[in-house]
Amino acid sequence: MLLGLKLTCCPHCRRTGVLIGHGFLRGYAEQGSEVVVRGRRVFCSNRGRRPGCGRTFSILLSTVLYGFVVRTLTLFRFANAIRAASLDARRG
Ligand SMILES: [Zn+2]
Repeated sequence: MLLGLKLTCCPHCRRTGVLIGHGFLRGYAEQGSEVVVRGRRVFCSNRGRRPGCGRTFSILLSTVLYGFVVRTLTLFRFANAIRAASLDARRG
């Protein structure tokens, strides 16, 4: 997930080569109260003599929807079930 991070520019200050991993983004699992990894935190490093802005941002996994506990695969299956039901209703 952090591959190519040094070639990516910071969304705040637009500098490249200063982004580093800064831990995991955790949240509740889709079912139950288990805590799971939802993405990574990225830090625009201003430590030492690095020219970053010192701000952080998150990168979500592709299976995560921002602001929702429901994962993308569950939402896809739900939409597919509605579409299939709609097609069945048309056929009568
Ligand atoms: Zn920055």
